[in-house]
Amino acid sequence: MNVDFGYKTYNNYGAYLKGKYEGVRVFKIIVDGGFTCPNRDGSKGYGGCAYCNVDSFTPETSRKMPTIREQIEKGIERAVKGYAAEKFIIYFQPNTNTYAPVHYLKMMYDEALSICPSDVVGLSVGTRPDCIDAEKVALLESYVERGLDVDLEMGMESIYDDTLQRINRGCSHQELIQAMDLVKDSPLDICVHTVFGFPWETREMMLRYADEINRFPQIKFVKLHQLYIVEGSIMGVQYKRNPFKLFSLEEYTDFLSEFIPLLRPDIIIQRLFGISDYDLLIAPEWGLKKSGIQSYIDKELERRGVMQGSRYRPLV
Ligand code: SF4
Repeated sequence: MNVDFGYKTYNNYGAYLKGKYEGVRVFKIIVDGGFTCPNRDGSKGYGGCAYCNVDSFTPETSRKMPTIREQIEKGIERAVKGYAAEKFIIYFQPNTNTYAPVHYLKMMYDEALSICPSDVVGLSVGTRPDCIDAEKVALLESYVERGLDVDLEMGMESIYDDTLQRINRGCSHQELIQAMDLVKDSPLDICVHTVFGFPWETREMMLRYADEINRFPQIKFVKLHQLYIVEGSIMGVQYKRNPFKLFSLEEYTDFLSEFIPLLRPDIIIQRLFGISDYDLLIAPEWGLKKSGIQSYIDKELERRGVMQGSRYRPLV
C-alpha cells in the first residue's frame, strides 16, 4: 500500500501514522530498559561501534530515569502537553533491546505495556541483527496477537563488511540477511537503520544501499542517517586527531535527492537524518535545529521534484 505523501515527496512516517490511526496523534515514548550491547560488554567487542555514544541516541530528558514506569509516565506527560498526543508507541531505543533472555525481555516489555494500556497502540524495539532469534521473534509476535503494532528496528548501518569491520560493528551484513530470513513471513513491521557518509564509501557505494533494502519485501520502514561524530565515541577521538570529510547539509540533501528515487515506493521513511544533543556533537555542525533541517531538506526535495521510487527498478 502506498501512503498519501501529504506535502512531502516521499512516504513519510507522519503521514503513515495519520492514515493508520485515522488522524489520532500518535507519539513514540522512548524507554531506556537498561539493556547493554554485545559490542560493549565484551561478547562481541568493547567500546561499541566507532560512532556510538549511546547517550547521544536519546534526549537528555529521557535518560537516567530510575524506572520504566517513571520514564513512560513522564514521556507521556511531555507528549500530551507539548504535542497534544493522544496515543503512544512504547519505544525501547538505547542499546540493544533484545539482548537478554526471552523471559527477561517479556518481563520488561510487559511492564512497559502495562502502564497506560488503553492509550498504547504499539511497541517498537531497536536492536542488532545478531541479537534476534526465533524465540525472540515469537515473543514480539505475541504482542501483535494482542492487537499492538510491533516495529522491530535493526541496525544495518552499511551493506559493506569492510565498513562494518572498520567501524567495529561486530556484526556482518550476512547476519542482517539471516535476520531478514527469520522475519520473512512475520507480522512484525521491520525497520532498518542506515548510516551514510563513512569517509571511505563513495556516493555510488551508498546509492547501492537502496537496491539492498529494496530486495527485502519484509522491510516496511527505513531510518536514514548521515554520519555525525559525537563525544565519547571512538570516531570522536579519531576525528579530533585527524578530521575527515563529513556531509554538509547541502551535500547530504543532494545525496538524498538521488537516493530517495531509487527506494521502493512502498517503503516508509521514518527518519531522513539524525541529530544528537548539541553538547555531545563534535561535527558536522549544520547550524539548524531539527525542525529547520527537516524543513530545509523537504523544501529542497520538493524544489528538485524528487519522488520516491521514480527510479526504482525491481530486481529480476
Ligand atoms: S550503535 Fe548500537 S550496537 Fe553499536 S555500540 Fe551502540 S548500542 Fe551497541
